Amino acid sequence: MMLEKLFSPLLHACGWYRRRWRRPEARGTALVLVYHRVAPAGGRAARSEPPGYGVERGVPLDVLEAQLRFMRRHAEPLPLSQLLRREPDAAPAFGVSFDDGYADNLHLAAPLLESLRIPATVFLNTDFVGTDRLFWWERLGEALRASRAESLDVAACAPELRARWSLPERLPLASDAQRESAHWQLSMALMRTPPAEIEAALRALAGAAHAKLPERGRAAPLLDWDQVRELRRRGFELGAHTRSHANLAQLDAAECEAEVLGSVERLAAELDAPVATFAYPYGGPEHQSEAARSAIARSGCEAAFTTELGAVRPGSDPLRLPRMGLTRGWSFACALKTDRALHAAPPGAAIGAGGAAGIGG
Ligand SMILES: [Zn+2]
Repeated sequence: MMLEKLFSPLLHACGWYRRRWRRPEARGTALVLVYHRVAPAGGRAARSEPPGYGVERGVPLDVLEAQLRFMRRHAEPLPLSQLLRREPDAAPAFGVSFDDGYADNLHLAAPLLESLRIPATVFLNTDFVGTDRLFWWERLGEALRASRAESLDVAACAPELRARWSLPERLPLASDAQRESAHWQLSMALMRTPPAEIEAALRALAGAAHAKLPERGRAAPLLDWDQVRELRRRGFELGAHTRSHANLAQLDAAECEAEVLGSVERLAAELDAPVATFAYPYGGPEHQSEAARSAIARSGCEAAFTTELGAVRPGSDPLRLPRMGLTRGWSFACALKTDRALHAAPPGAAIGAGGAAGIGG
């Protein structure tokens, strides 16, 4: 794998990846890209706002354009709702999705997608649409960015979280790189924590960092319902992503039902149209459950997307469809990642099908 990464520019230059897209096993497949925020072209260096951590950072518009143009060279763009209705020998296809409902999806991504004639789906957390509420990872990011503490005593302020997820005793916070690393490690633990326990853990962590823990006040606005309807008028699809971005695997059947059906019904009512697609919050195998599947099936959604790496194929489990994240705009980097997705085992089939870590849904 390391060797292939090293040689991927060369393999790309001599057409090796391009030929693999044309092999018979690529027929009927579809790759689904997952994004969150979109940033202006040029990335962080071109802006004066404080650094974002992880998915807060967003994909710069020029990188997004390069990735979309790469995908279109190899595959046919299709709406997510059509990916399961394809012939087994159809040409390779791809879909585009944005999770969590940021307004930059409308202001920055939509005009680009329209100019390239590429459809996309935006997955919404219905309790957050039109509000200035912060997601818990954004609140943690705000607290860590504001902290002047040299380090965070995790053993003292969050002993259960530390024990459960083998976090280090102390997380250094002296530099922005250290604060980002702390944010990443704590987020990985909190993503797997029962939603009802997250608030207390956040308060303990912010207290130990001597920082405020804001609940509202967004630098990056979320879509409101009028903007959601505008996206639909312009041909974009809207899907459900639960009400509150809860880890469904940590909820019982009744709570899953409230999160899943609550979001699907609210979205359908606001759009006055049925909702066909769903995306699991965070999207890894540890964020899915039988109770969640059952609730999604009863919601009327035909397709549910994870962040497990792979390709949608004829016969894929419609309630466990893989997606993939692209990080760089360079063609050889896109070629390497898409090749891995095209050749990954189906979700749940084998070790090596992973790739969820680091994307987040
Ligand atoms: Zn999400």
